[in-house]
Amino acid sequence: MKKVALLFVLAVFLPSLLLAWLAVRSLRDQQFLLERQESLLYQGTADGTVKDILAALGDIQHSFAAKVGAMLEAEDPRKLATSFDALLRHEWPLAEVGFVVTTSGEILSPSPQEGPTARAFLTENSRFLANRESAEVYLNSKQPFNNALMLAQNDTTSGKQNDASVLAGRKATDNVKTEKRYVVPQQMLNPSQRAVSPPEEQQVSKLSVSEAEFRQLIGEQSEGMLARFIDNKLQVILWFRSARDSQLVFGAQLGLGSLQENLRPIIQQVEAPLRDEICMALLNDAAKPVALSHSGFQANWKHPFVASEIGEALPHWEVAVYLLNPAKLARSAEALKWMLGLLVAVLVTAIGIGSWLLFSDLSRQLRLARQKTDFVSNVSHELKTPLTSIRMFAELLAEGRVADPARQRSYLNIITAESARLTRLINNVLDFARIERGEKKYTFQRCDLAEITRETADSYLPHLEANGFTLDCHLPSTTVWVNGDRDALAQIIVNLLSNAEKYSGAQKEVVLRLEQKTRPLPYAQIEVLDRGLGVPAGSEEKIFEKFYRAHDSLSSGIQGSGLGLTLARQIARAHGGDVLYEPREGGGSCFRLHLPVTPEHS
Ligand code: ADP
Repeated sequence: MKKVALLFVLAVFLPSLLLAWLAVRSLRDQQFLLERQESLLYQGTADGTVKDILAALGDIQHSFAAKVGAMLEAEDPRKLATSFDALLRHEWPLAEVGFVVTTSGEILSPSPQEGPTARAFLTENSRFLANRESAEVYLNSKQPFNNALMLAQNDTTSGKQNDASVLAGRKATDNVKTEKRYVVPQQMLNPSQRAVSPPEEQQVSKLSVSEAEFRQLIGEQSEGMLARFIDNKLQVILWFRSARDSQLVFGAQLGLGSLQENLRPIIQQVEAPLRDEICMALLNDAAKPVALSHSGFQANWKHPFVASEIGEALPHWEVAVYLLNPAKLARSAEALKWMLGLLVAVLVTAIGIGSWLLFSDLSRQLRLARQKTDFVSNVSHELKTPLTSIRMFAELLAEGRVADPARQRSYLNIITAESARLTRLINNVLDFARIERGEKKYTFQRCDLAEITRETADSYLPHLEANGFTLDCHLPSTTVWVNGDRDALAQIIVNLLSNAEKYSGAQKEVVLRLEQKTRPLPYAQIEVLDRGLGVPAGSEEKIFEKFYRAHDSLSSGIQGSGLGLTLARQIARAHGGDVLYEPREGGGSCFRLHLPVTPEHS
């Protein structure tokens, strides 16, 4: 038993505890995992929007190049150069200022007379465009250099030009500085870290800043786009060089307002079902939203759920994603946690109950195995005792050593009684085996229980009297009809009488009573009462279990198989009745057999 318990603890209990512990541990990471999944999904959306914005910027650049190309078709380049600003603004509304500069640094357009915007442009840019001053430009440190400065190139871009661009890029990156990110997304942060400052790499921008002159920046390219900050204000400049006069560079400063108008639809295109979950925003370099997918939405703009930088075309501009209902994520993580917790609890309880059932079944099986062993030794003993006396008295008689006829009769009586005891025992064992296999057959017929009881008492009386017992019989004079198997019913009575005899002790008085009762339904009751040891407390029901013996042979010296009452109850129940035990008032036992009666005239 100890070995089984140890095995059980090692093979079932400890692994289940370990599993439960692992499950509880993984529960704690649920929210983090859920956020991670969501952040990956939304990051993908933000990255996709950045791609769309870059494509839109590429389109703007191409449309500028096409517009200038068309203007050059209609007009001589040198002539066009002088009136370029006014013409371009008129024909291409995205332009705030149009400019023309020669590769040697002479600015042909705009002229300061064209208005305050032109004058401001010239003040801010003329030194840079004339190659007399270098400006801070932005590189995407995560992209190859040849892509860093050129957002898009027209079809005339050759391999040679690309090489030149690489050179230009390399020169520009001689003195590269990394930039800090203005927006810090919550993504990838462990919930426990959230309260603390985010890790260093989250705050570093993918952009690097370097200094370069205009001539150096455009290299041999035919068109391009560059962004620079002047007094913390972003300026986006497009340029185009015609093959007809490659000495002239035509350019435009984009109006940021019109640019934002162009990009707004891209931000607003968040589709269902994501539309109900997130708000997408285009943040400018001051981390202020310039376009929103949900107008009126408010949040801490510097700390979106996830964000993606647009890159060198719009430095420090970001596409940011905010959760419309941040508590929802925590709630669903909480719900998931509860559900898993409940599941773990149910599993652990199931393992606990299963283990307990297994354990109790095992101990029941062990007890049964022990009882079976006891049964074999008990039955062998019960067989041996009568056999020994039968053999002894039979030998005495056979050898003619007993001359007294009275003693001869007494010996013969003993042989008969012991044979009857043997028969009873063997009948019990055989019947029990039949019932266990489900093969026991009863021959039901209408019979008089009073008559059966009388006959059984009469046949058992000599045996009782021979052992010094008195049998007080109370039987009705009328018939008590029951539907039953005569022999089986007689067997119950014999088993009860035999037990009364076995467990009586010194006071050898047995009472047998048959009565008809009417409540709750009409039934017959046979009582067998003795003044013996009684059944020990706690064993009142167990005595009906197979092989169970409340008084074992060793301590009490009373032989038995532990089958008599089991059989009695099984037979009674097969007849629709039962056998019950009750301690008798004044000491001893009272066994009752209940059987349903059949109507008088049926
Ligand atoms: P056994 O062969 O051991 O008598 P039974 O099934 O007839 O088997 O009885 C089961 C147990 O019930 C007995 O071992 C005994 O402990 C208890 N028992 C049965 N009848 C009596 C009785 N009349 N008085 C006290 N104990 C009894």
